[in-house]
Amino acid sequence: MKIEVDGVKYTIHFKHVVPVRDKQGKVVVMPADAGTMCAIHQGDCVHCGGDSPTGQIVECLLFGRSYLNPLDNFDKALGRKLSLGRALRAKPDTFGKDFRAKFWAEYRAAREQMGKVTA
Ligand SMILES: [Zn+2]
Ligand SMILES: [Zn+2]
Repeated sequence: MKIEVDGVKYTIHFKHVVPVRDKQGKVVVMPADAGTMCAIHQGDCVHCGGDSPTGQIVECLLFGRSYLNPLDNFDKALGRKLSLGRALRAKPDTFGKDFRAKFWAEYRAAREQMGKVTA
């Protein structure tokens, strides 16, 4: 996803590491890093596999992740919210409160435009 804040373009990626379930839906493998990663680039993504299904994201300008509590169901919306929040707080001296507020607003607007539920 691409957004613009204060005239600067950013690319946001999310990757979910999900538990493996059997046909009945029972979790059979819970990866230690189950959860959601969020990476933010300034400008276009030129560093990683990005949003391709098999691509791996790299830690770039800002990076954050959330971990799934093994007792909880995987909630992608919550994973996005937590990991993006952590990414945006990763460099508070450079990206302060005003920036974070604008970034969230642009992010929510972009998701709405995609017709996706806000997270
Ligand atoms: Zn980058
Ligand atoms: Zn990328």
